[in-house]
Amino acid sequence: MNDRNRRTSDERSDGTTNPGEKRGERPRTERPRNPWLRLVLFAVVLWFLWMMLGQGTRGTEITYAEFRAYLAAGAVKSASISSGRISGLIEREVAPPDDARPAKFEFQAVRVDDKALVEELAKANVDFRGVVENPLGGLLLLWILPLLILPLLLLFLARSRCGAGGGPMGSPFGFGRSRARLVADRNTGVTFADVAGCEEAKADLQEVVEFLKSAERFVKLGAKIPKGVLLLGPPGTGKTLLARAVAGEAAVPFFSISGSEFVEMFVGVGAARVRDLFEQAKKTAPCIVFIDEIDAIGRSRGVQIGAVNDEREQTLNQLLVELDGFEPNSGVILLAATNRPDVLDRALLRPGRFDRQVVLDAPDLEGRKAILAVHAKGKPLAPDVDLTAIARSTPGFAGADLANALNEAALLASRRAGTSINQHDLEEAIEKIVAGPERQTRRLKDDERRRVAVHESGHALVAYHSEHADPVHKISIVPRGRAALGYTMQLPVEEQYLMTRAELDDRMAVLLGGRAAEQLVLGDASTGAADDLERATGIARQMVCIFGMGDAAGLMRCARDVDSPFLKGPGVRLERDCSEETARAIDAEVRALLDAALARATRVLGSNREALERVAATLLERERLDREEFESLVRVAPPAP
Ligand code: ADP
Ligand code: MG
Ligand code: ZN
Repeated sequence: MNDRNRRTSDERSDGTTNPGEKRGERPRTERPRNPWLRLVLFAVVLWFLWMMLGQGTRGTEITYAEFRAYLAAGAVKSASISSGRISGLIEREVAPPDDARPAKFEFQAVRVDDKALVEELAKANVDFRGVVENPLGGLLLLWILPLLILPLLLLFLARSRCGAGGGPMGSPFGFGRSRARLVADRNTGVTFADVAGCEEAKADLQEVVEFLKSAERFVKLGAKIPKGVLLLGPPGTGKTLLARAVAGEAAVPFFSISGSEFVEMFVGVGAARVRDLFEQAKKTAPCIVFIDEIDAIGRSRGVQIGAVNDEREQTLNQLLVELDGFEPNSGVILLAATNRPDVLDRALLRPGRFDRQVVLDAPDLEGRKAILAVHAKGKPLAPDVDLTAIARSTPGFAGADLANALNEAALLASRRAGTSINQHDLEEAIEKIVAGPERQTRRLKDDERRRVAVHESGHALVAYHSEHADPVHKISIVPRGRAALGYTMQLPVEEQYLMTRAELDDRMAVLLGGRAAEQLVLGDASTGAADDLERATGIARQMVCIFGMGDAAGLMRCARDVDSPFLKGPGVRLERDCSEETARAIDAEVRALLDAALARATRVLGSNREALERVAATLLERERLDREEFESLVRVAPPAP
């Protein structure tokens, strides 16, 4: 394997060497896994266990006390005594009626320390002798057997590791073999019809499909098809699915391997895998090579030091070599997927490599509707189901979440022994995904429940009275998931891609509305607001550090994102990128923003005190309120000044 790695550098200089040529062709027949090997191993292990446990001796196991009883009765005819066991023959004219054992049988017993044994045996006239415990067996057991088993086991492990077939002659254990799986029937069973809500991405990939179907047409026109297409998008948006769909549409073989499978313990294995993968692919062209989660190997080089990085660098280098090494129209199309395009090495993205990028975003309303329709196929839906309403109530859900929601709904329907999925099942499933499963068994004390009701009513009421906040969709004080004791669910009226300063202010006020209500009504704060505070602080900090909405840093961006650019939102982690003084000023300003938001929430609730109490009381009684119930409760009150 080592000489292969060393070749990496010179291959890169000319960029066209085909490593396959140097090594010559070798027959690549699929060697069936040897079933005999397994059987033999199994037998050896069994024998080993048998030797250990039974030590191969025969006879009925009796207790030492029983042995002494037989001895006293004069029934023991012969005995072999080793350091740990006694075995021998028991023989009587007839077995006494209270003894279930036959008149004559071989016995064995565990020996206990008994000084009088020999005397007794002699007295009873037993033919007895001492034996040394199977010395050969002990030797075998301790030394020879493990020595025999170990290489067998190693061989076995090595075989099962390289699932794609027998190892090449050069590497007996085949660590270098790629674990790419060739879909035998050349059909992934997925088509574009199974992927919904990303029409642009599908249109982009249609060209790739056309090329794979009829490469000559493109070649005749002198057109070059991109070698590599990178699918970008947050988790669960269907990147893997789309790659499979391309293979399914074009009806070509599909090699799929995950980036992490290249990164191994041994330096050089990853590079060898890359080489093998491309070698196989070139032989099978036209075909698709799909590297999922490519960020595992494609991370920028030279950032960290250490062995792991070394290995990844080598693998990445080899990947770059291979990318340059095959002809644009060789019929091999490389697809890769990642949700961390920010960490990818720039070299991967330059023209001639992954030069085409297809972005998959979280689906919009129409997209969600389409995805729901795809996954609802084959599931009996009750007539009351309104998929549009479901799509509307799931902003930010990716395809995988929607698929999950439909599946949860089906499970809920089966739990209540229904014959079809109804709207309530779907809504419950979504709540479960958003806030965790209901926990009816978690019993809160009465004053705790009241506090939760007041807290949630506070959120809802501030939202109701804030011009830019999303309308309240649902309030609940049924404990859910790990932490939530209650929750207020707001839903945007329409898809939103930008937020204004006023909207962010309102959002902070709504988040702090829970704490404000608790203080106002119950005169004391509680730990229940921890999550709200975290999110509000996150918003305030982003406003100052990223969005240029504060005075402390002005327009200066003074934080770096640590996470993927796809993970926008309050949970995003930031890293400070400014001087100490600025940081101090930022902290002060973040605090001021939060204070102002709390003050506003308190003011709103103070002037709607009756409505707050009314909503809280009703919530306490009914446990959950939907939008209409909530708004009718609020509207009774005189409008806020
Ligand atoms: P990713 O690779 O982007 O993380 P996957 O492709 O593995 O996501 O998606 C997981 C599952 O979610 C898919 O198997 C599919 O059932 C569902 N899914 C995701 N996106 C879509 C979509 N656009 N249309 C239909 N189903 C989708
Ligand atoms: Mg995936
Ligand atoms: Zn809260």
